[in-house]
Amino acid sequence: MRRIVVSVALLALLGVAVGRIGHAQAPTQNSGSAAQAAPAAAARGRATPPVPVFKLDDNFLQWRLLPDEKAYEAIDGRHLLQYVNDLSAMSRHYRDSGHPQFWGRIIGSSADREDAQWLMGKMTQIGLLDVHEESIDLAPQWFPQSWDLTATGAGKTLRLETAQPSYTSPGTTGAGLDLEVVYAGLGSEADLLGRDVRGKAVLIFSNPMPGSWRHTSTQEGVVGDDGTRATLLQLAEKRGAAAIICSIQLPGNIRTQLYPTGTKVPTFSMGMRDGADLRDMVAHAPAGQPVHLKLRMDVQQVPGLKTGTIWGTLKGTTDETIYVEAHRDGWFESATDNGSGVATLLGLAEYFAKVPLAQRRRTIIFLGTSGHHNSGPNSAAWLAEHHEELFKKTALLINAEHTAAAQPELLGEAIRLVNDEAGFLWYGGGNQRPKLQAASVKAFQSFGVPIYAEPENGVPGGEASRLYQFVPAVQASNYNMYFHSDFETPATVPAPGLAATTRAYAKIIDEVNKIDLRELQLPSPPAATAPRR
Ligand SMILES: [Zn+2]
Repeated sequence: MRRIVVSVALLALLGVAVGRIGHAQAPTQNSGSAAQAAPAAAARGRATPPVPVFKLDDNFLQWRLLPDEKAYEAIDGRHLLQYVNDLSAMSRHYRDSGHPQFWGRIIGSSADREDAQWLMGKMTQIGLLDVHEESIDLAPQWFPQSWDLTATGAGKTLRLETAQPSYTSPGTTGAGLDLEVVYAGLGSEADLLGRDVRGKAVLIFSNPMPGSWRHTSTQEGVVGDDGTRATLLQLAEKRGAAAIICSIQLPGNIRTQLYPTGTKVPTFSMGMRDGADLRDMVAHAPAGQPVHLKLRMDVQQVPGLKTGTIWGTLKGTTDETIYVEAHRDGWFESATDNGSGVATLLGLAEYFAKVPLAQRRRTIIFLGTSGHHNSGPNSAAWLAEHHEELFKKTALLINAEHTAAAQPELLGEAIRLVNDEAGFLWYGGGNQRPKLQAASVKAFQSFGVPIYAEPENGVPGGEASRLYQFVPAVQASNYNMYFHSDFETPATVPAPGLAATTRAYAKIIDEVNKIDLRELQLPSPPAATAPRR
């Protein structure tokens, strides 16, 4: 009993600690014993959260520029943060107009329309030429309309508020499912020993792998007798699960949108607190009266939707080109992924629009792409298909993606934000383009973009995954534990971080303009399939 009291008290502490980043979280139910246990622990002093003495968003570490870098000071992080705020507001607007569960700047939705119009407006204001949208017809898109997961047992009811269907998860029909719940630990073969999951709702705890944002139940693999590899979620399905819920073990109660999990039964992610509450309900159910889960999800495959690529051009003195792209879509407020990237794109457009034409060697083409959080056709597929004509005279492609994020640290039982940024995964054109790579490293170092000593073998995932094999590409991207979750709010985007990455990219463009095309367009590195992120 003592152990339960402590863990519940810690969860109560987390609610406070995480709340300090300014994210308003929907209240969640606590079991009766849990709510009563918290004050007792607080009396021992453990639930007293430390009190901040400064406001985080005014106190992120600032990078001071050297005298010969002063020109880049015109790129102002606070100004760029306003763009992130505008984009996040579009997500919330979509959520608040009838889409309370599956929301964000989702491809094919009205939020996609809104941010496309907004971006064209900004590009026009900046003075870009030929601002227009290339429309893309989408394949039918997966749109869950509503869902509800409610557990009952031992006289209690628990609504799983943070349950979120994995992308392309099937829904239910009619009155939905009513399933016995079985707790399966981490969901490995060892955890499943002696457990009958057939026809049941399986609860799996999934340990996060922050940084590249993966977690154990979608990443760990089991090779079956037939030689095929299954993730732990797929293993549960193979053993006969009728529904699968993985509780991602990040402190608090974070709602996460997963990419497709390759399972054919309803599959959900869920926050840590909801997972612990459901697990404890299973533990305390009277013998012979197991916990039941009522599960209902209405999913539609919506046909006839459109998205688009937004184009804007800044003329240079030659017909050689530099591309800057940023994907427009994202789940929830998607402040880092990819509000930050769109803000960086606009910051670069503003900066170079003020440089006299005679000093602009190459034409810069800005692309607000549809994004890749969907299935079927999108901008990236179109660009890859047309790479020969598009990139014939291209010196550089900058993929502005996840360009700023505060560093969330797992500190004991809490996630806390530090007043600085976490490490960025990066790619500077590869070892075969030593000048480009050296210019990238120098710029990231000079302007305060925290990078690893080792570049990735290709662009670190995302929108340029299909393009970097055709074009000299540069990208520095942050992937942290709030990735694809409802905690990825503008409060987690540091203005100095936006300034740092955007200034570094501006510097890289200036340096690349000193390098001849043939030194950049070297034989491409072998085409690798970069992981989807
Ligand atoms: Zn992204």
